[in-house]
Amino acid sequence: MAKALVLEKANELSLRDIDLPDALGPEDVRIAIHTVGVCGSDVHYYTHGKIGPFVVNAPMVLGHEAAGTVTEIGSDVTHLAVGDRVCMEPGIPNTRSKAAKLGVYNVDPSVRFWATPPVHGCLTPSVVHPAAFTFRLPDSVSFAEGAMVEPFAIGMQAAAKARIKPGDVALVTGAGPIGIMVALAALAGGCAKVYIADLVEDKLGVAAQYDNIEPILIPRDDPGQILRDATEGWGADVVFECAGAAASIQTALEAAAPAGCVVWVGMPVDPVPVDIVLAQSKELRMETVFRYANMYDRAIALLGSGKVDLKPLVSETFAFDDSIAAFDRAVAANPTDVKIQIRLDQT
Ligand code: ZN
Repeated sequence: MAKALVLEKANELSLRDIDLPDALGPEDVRIAIHTVGVCGSDVHYYTHGKIGPFVVNAPMVLGHEAAGTVTEIGSDVTHLAVGDRVCMEPGIPNTRSKAAKLGVYNVDPSVRFWATPPVHGCLTPSVVHPAAFTFRLPDSVSFAEGAMVEPFAIGMQAAAKARIKPGDVALVTGAGPIGIMVALAALAGGCAKVYIADLVEDKLGVAAQYDNIEPILIPRDDPGQILRDATEGWGADVVFECAGAAASIQTALEAAAPAGCVVWVGMPVDPVPVDIVLAQSKELRMETVFRYANMYDRAIALLGSGKVDLKPLVSETFAFDDSIAAFDRAVAANPTDVKIQIRLDQT
């Protein structure tokens, strides 16, 4: 039995003992969890009890954005050692699957992802995880930043899918946590400037504290016009749609330059009509993103080099015993909050 933050059912959390698998296989490591970030998906399971087809039918431990310290290694593990500071990729594919063999293990239908029913998450003091999906952190990268590699990896996936060229000008629609992660990854990936659009001024303020991220307040400002003004009438080389709303999906198509790229990152709750002819008339390239594959090494390298700084995005850190308060804070959706974290290790 181990203490964990358990989602009993929609709107009911408890911090209690629960039976969790803890057998250490030869290719696994055991990790003392230090910090876990609260993600929008954790919050959605808490408030709705489901996300699309994934329904919480039995008590489930929440949390999938984690960093910690290796405390034990399996007999076949050679690249990690006890005492290593690490972060973990929460999705474990079947490494023999066709998707894994093709390098797109994120779309393996049999992937087991922390805190996606029926798989337990990592808001508990110790977890067992495959060493192949556990990554050492450089000394300069804190546990708090390590726990943000997961959402940042989504930004990395989006930037990689966009095939950014040095000097590109990008638009991000939606300045939530993922929109900001995408903007930072796009800058690191070579964009000269990233414009970010949102309806909420406070969210834009958080994003605009970074150099070369320019806020666009909707409806006061027109993103399409601003991008055309910035590019001699041409438009954004890349648009990252991160809001998942019908209006911003239209904005994305309008703001993109001819032969530009639109990356669909945001997930509309319901199907949304898309102006295909508008996309065709500019011969836009469109890409989609589902989580990430092979992005942790790259994300950690950028944090380690100092090219990307996620530290300003930690809004508040709660103790493990206050996990439920941390979730209620996340549910409140304070516009200046980007990442709420829970710290299990008080050392
Ligand atoms: Zn997440």
